[in-house]
Amino acid sequence: MPELPEVESTVRGLSQLVTGRKITDVWSDWPKIVRGKDFKSFQKGIIGRKIVSLSRRAKNILFHLDEDFLLLVHLKMTGHLMVGQWTLPDKGAAQAIDGGALSEKVNGYIHMILVLDDGRMIALSDLRKFAKVRLGKESEVFKEEKFDQIGPEATEITLLELSKLASKSKKAIKSVLMDQEKIAGIGNIYSDDILWKAKINPLRPALSLTDKEIKDLFEAIKSILSLALKLRGTSISDYRDVFGEKGGYGDQRLIYRRDKEPCKRCGSSIKRIKIGGRSARYCPICQKI
Ligand SMILES: [Zn+2]
Repeated sequence: MPELPEVESTVRGLSQLVTGRKITDVWSDWPKIVRGKDFKSFQKGIIGRKIVSLSRRAKNILFHLDEDFLLLVHLKMTGHLMVGQWTLPDKGAAQAIDGGALSEKVNGYIHMILVLDDGRMIALSDLRKFAKVRLGKESEVFKEEKFDQIGPEATEITLLELSKLASKSKKAIKSVLMDQEKIAGIGNIYSDDILWKAKINPLRPALSLTDKEIKDLFEAIKSILSLALKLRGTSISDYRDVFGEKGGYGDQRLIYRRDKEPCKRCGSSIKRIKIGGRSARYCPICQKI
């Protein structure tokens, strides 16, 4: 699933490419992608609106439109947004025109397209069809999506905030890091790598971490996310940037999806366990419980 570095890379790419453009049409072969209203009212509500700016909150992409309207896009498991040109068929799948990377298979699961006033388009490719969009007045969308319950951004959280939230939870630190109400933007990829870097076992109850471990965790959060942002995210699954290209963090990842490979620090075999239904990797020597 796209996490903070992937979503932020998308927002930065879109900001450069589509700020100031007007939306002139919308196409979809999967109307259920729209939450809170039917597809017809979504169409009516978005056509003619100008994209004033873009931002991110947790893993949500926010298109700030004119008159205080907001289009929220959550990419969920396999979604990604790209800018280019596609055919808009009445039936069947949309195809990239002169696509390059946009024509690659991973970018071909197009389920929604916003047509812009300069002829370019913003397309959502989503193999699993879990992505969602919501349109409304900014305050309404924030309320419907419970933005008041989202924790501080992982890139902005302070050491004190991290220390406080850890001290209040008996849950495994891996689950706490992935809980968007506690800290926003981290999922399975980066929590695996952050905990390895900080030498903390993913099963450790959050409140059992020492001051030294909290500090190591804090520093690992900042350094891993900053590297992943610089490399424009991880593409070992479906995520691609706005040009349909891969991000570079996948090649440099520390332990995520490196089951049974040697630990980069001590050479032991990386183990995989399940925590709260999700996979977690760790080194049994460097990350002793
Ligand atoms: Zn190790």
